[in-house]
Amino acid sequence: MAHRRFELTTLGTGAALPARGRFPTAQLLNVHEALYLIDCGEGTQERLRVAGINLVRIGHIFISHLHGDHYLGLMGLMSSMHLVGRTAPLHVHGPRILKEIIDLQLRASVTYLRYPFTFHALEPVSGAVVWEDAHVVVRTLALKHRLPCTGFLFEERPALRHLRTEKLPLIPQFKRNAVKAGEDLRFPDGTVLTNAELTLDPPPPRRYAYCSDTAYEPTLVPHLRGVDLLYHEATFTEQLKKRAQETLHSTAAQAATIARDADVGRLLLGHFSSRYKSADELLAEALPIFPRTALSYEGATFPVIERSIV
Ligand SMILES: [Zn+2]
Ligand SMILES: [Zn+2]
Repeated sequence: MAHRRFELTTLGTGAALPARGRFPTAQLLNVHEALYLIDCGEGTQERLRVAGINLVRIGHIFISHLHGDHYLGLMGLMSSMHLVGRTAPLHVHGPRILKEIIDLQLRASVTYLRYPFTFHALEPVSGAVVWEDAHVVVRTLALKHRLPCTGFLFEERPALRHLRTEKLPLIPQFKRNAVKAGEDLRFPDGTVLTNAELTLDPPPPRRYAYCSDTAYEPTLVPHLRGVDLLYHEATFTEQLKKRAQETLHSTAAQAATIARDADVGRLLLGHFSSRYKSADELLAEALPIFPRTALSYEGATFPVIERSIV
């Protein structure tokens, strides 16, 4: 079977202030060559350029909440898409008030976008399907933060069924796609070969969950159960647990606890406070609780690997 790409590129991994070579939050998710941008901190379009991404290919932008480090790059990016003559539709998903912010800025600059633009208002609830297309189904996650804040769960569409090699000679070429899609094979003489005889299950659909920004929120665990890759913010270490509580952020230990309790495949940490010169101490805190943890960093790409083979 052809390899189906499902991978995450972290474009910005800093919290609040751009500092120490880190940029505000932005991620690019590639699901079977369809591109989804998740958050859009200041400078995101520059990070996309560095990563060699053609802006026209991004069909959807998901904004978690309206703290500046998660969306101040949006107008610049939308404006550049306009200037390069984009004609492909753009969908932006975010808190309801974001629509007013976008409209006001377009009105103030007397800009009439050259591409169709659709806004989808999000509510911070867990489990609501907010988008589905041929590649992916996207659900929201209710995060616990100072503003309404939405995480996202991306689940790829299942692959087609695999044809059993030994049965290939029995399946006419023109019927193969139908059989891969689940149909039985009926011959003119009335014989039926059931789909179960002809095919094998495809690999289970992979899932990626994005949790930023949030305080420690155990009610997320059932929604995150068994995801293949979990990104969870880790703004502080346990030493600053009180500060994490006050600002409704998480420590690295808390992120790892969520990952362990939800039995995820891998955990990716990010949203590091600018007080940490290196994120290694955050990683060191998470590893004893959840060993399959890695640090995100600017421009890094992480494949979403099926949890059972991690
Ligand atoms: Zn933030
Ligand atoms: Zn925030």
